[in-house]
Amino acid sequence: MTETTPNHTQTVEGWAAMDSNGKIAPFVFKRRENGEDDVTIKILYCGICHTDLHHVKDDWGITMYPIVPGHEITGVITKVGSNATNFKVGDRVGVGCLAATCLECEFCKASEENYCDKVQFTYNGIFWDGSITYGGYSKMLVADKRYVVHVPDSLPLDAAAPLLCAGITVFSPMKYYNMSQPGKKLGVVGLGGLGHVAIKFGKAFGLHVTVISTSPSKEKEAKERLGADDFILSTDPERMEQSGKRSLDYIIDTVAAKHSLGPILELLKVRGTLVLVGAPDKPLDLPSFPLFFGKRNVAGSMIGGMKETQEMMDFCGKHNITCDIELVKPDHINEALDRLARNDVRYRFVIDIDASSDH
Ligand SMILES: [Zn+2]
Ligand SMILES: [Zn+2]
Repeated sequence: MTETTPNHTQTVEGWAAMDSNGKIAPFVFKRRENGEDDVTIKILYCGICHTDLHHVKDDWGITMYPIVPGHEITGVITKVGSNATNFKVGDRVGVGCLAATCLECEFCKASEENYCDKVQFTYNGIFWDGSITYGGYSKMLVADKRYVVHVPDSLPLDAAAPLLCAGITVFSPMKYYNMSQPGKKLGVVGLGGLGHVAIKFGKAFGLHVTVISTSPSKEKEAKERLGADDFILSTDPERMEQSGKRSLDYIIDTVAAKHSLGPILELLKVRGTLVLVGAPDKPLDLPSFPLFFGKRNVAGSMIGGMKETQEMMDFCGKHNITCDIELVKPDHINEALDRLARNDVRYRFVIDIDASSDH
C-alpha cells in the first residue's frame, strides 16, 4: 500500500522485522509529507514494549511485514503543519499507541478515542491515507497533532518514553476507578514495566501500596528502591490469607501470564475492584465465590485517551515520575527483545535512536 501512496516521499531510516523469525534489521522506508494537521518529530528515544515482541514474531497472527515496531516514542519537533497550532519547532513531545481514530464516535468525542472501534495504532495499523503505519524504531515520525503530547521540561526524554504506553496503561484505570484517594490501599500484582510505574503513581497519589509477587527476591527491591509499603508473596497462600485477606481497596494486576485470580480477589475489601492490565494469551479462570462474598468487581482497561495521556505527563512532570530504564543502542535491539522475552529487564528497555553503532 505504501508504494501507491503518492505523498509518501520522505525517506526514513529505521529498524524492522521482515518475517516471523522476528529478527530486527536496519530498514529504509517512506513516510508521508508533513500535512497541515501533522507535526514531524525527530525521534530520540523509543521504549521496547511487550506488544512489540508479540508483533515481530506474529504471535497474534495480525502482523503485516515488514514491521517497524515502537509506540513509546519521544523526540523533538522539526516541522509543524498550519493547523497544529498547539506545537512549535523544538518542542519536546511524545507519541504513544494511537495514530488515527474516527473522530466522530461517542468515544472519540468523549476523549476516550483509545476505545474507538476504528482505532489505528502507531505501527501495524492503516492510516487515513491507506498507508501502513510504521512505529518508533526509526529516526523520524510524521504524526497527526491529535495523537501527540507535550513532555514537561523536567522529565528526561529517555526515561519518559515508556510512560506513553506503560505509564498511561496504569494511570488511566487508577483515575477512572478513583484509586487516587490518599490513605486508601492499593495492591500491585507483578513487578515489571507496568507494575513499577503503578507503585510510583500510587505513592504520588498518597496511597498505601502493597506489591504482590511470586518472587521473594522482589521484596527488597519493591520496598527499598521503589517505595512500596508492603509485600505479599503470592506463592504462599497461608501468608496471603493471614496478612492480606480483605485488606486492599483496589488492585492493579499487571501479570501477562496465566495465573489464578481467586486468591488475589480475596485480598480485596468488600466492594473492592480488581483491574486487569496485563495481557495473558490464555483466558484466566474467574471463580465466582470471591466475587459474591465480597461484592467485588473485576474490570479491564487499555492505554488511555490523549487528553488523559497529557494529564498523566503533566502529573509525572510535577511529581518527578519516570520509568526505570536500560538504554540500548539500535544494534542491540535483538538482544533486548530476547532478554525481554525472558523478563530479564529492569524495568524497560529504551532505544537510544541516535546512538552510533559499535562497529
Ligand atoms: Zn505498549
Ligand atoms: Zn471514534
